[in-house]
Amino acid sequence: MDTPLLEPGLYIVATPIGNLGDLTRRAVEILSACAVIACEDTRVTGKLLNHLGIKKPMRRYDDHAGEDARERLLAEMVQNPVVLVSDAGTPLISDPGYRLVCEARARGIMVTSLPGPCALVVALTLAGLPTDRFMFGGFLPSKDKARGDVLGELAAVRATLVFYETGPRLVDSLEAMARVLPGREIAVARELTKLHEECRTGTAEELIAHYTAHPPRGEIVLLAGPPGDAPAPDAADVEVQLRAALADMAPSQAAGMVAKATGLDRKTLYARAMEIRHEPG
Ligand code: SAM
Repeated sequence: MDTPLLEPGLYIVATPIGNLGDLTRRAVEILSACAVIACEDTRVTGKLLNHLGIKKPMRRYDDHAGEDARERLLAEMVQNPVVLVSDAGTPLISDPGYRLVCEARARGIMVTSLPGPCALVVALTLAGLPTDRFMFGGFLPSKDKARGDVLGELAAVRATLVFYETGPRLVDSLEAMARVLPGREIAVARELTKLHEECRTGTAEELIAHYTAHPPRGEIVLLAGPPGDAPAPDAADVEVQLRAALADMAPSQAAGMVAKATGLDRKTLYARAMEIRHEPG
């Protein structure tokens, strides 16, 4: 493979989340041609480079690294091509890199990103839940109250919710979903791209029963389908509301108020309000 001459800057490179065959050809080219690789863990990235037969200087980097470490990398990328990888998947997605990218952009350094594996996208394409709108929530908090609060904040979002999760916490998170997101379709996508890949769907209660009996190993993405459409208001309730409103409002006002409360058509409600007004006795 020809090694391209790279301009100086920051190259964000996605790496496999399990199956080494998922490394793109362009990722290999850029890893071969760069000057330095910034990574979370030099042992993990070292294994990938060994597998590829690539030898490059590596610098440990995460967003909690001191200013010095970041400054050194920023100075390097002014002169040379610097690659940023994480242990697995797409850097910056629940992984380090955000501060480095912000700072590089602020300084006018060339920044480019090579697409590749990302567990949330793999899970979303696999789970059979709606993909037209989704919201990624990172890792849910580990404490019960905070976890419930986050799910409560997201409960009204009309989108598939996607979270990263770990085996030991899965059942706790499913229990919180059963409580805060009742009736949703849930998916657990586990060990994606690996030998024991699985994607199990069901209600939170069904999945709690399964994973209590078979404690899950490995890496997990947890998804919850969007809330269903709000149930149509009960006709008898609407009639009661309209009659109560008519007790001290004009028909047009009463129809407007009930339309707002129920989402029903104002004109239809007005017609019914007029009928009630003209009832004998
Ligand atoms: N940046 C990575 C990405 O692009 O997916 C995510 C890094 S985050 C620190 C690690 C979490 O991603 C894991 O705890 C798990 O929730 C999810 N994950 C990573 N690889 C996975 C896989 N092969 N199968 C399922 N989930 C995975």
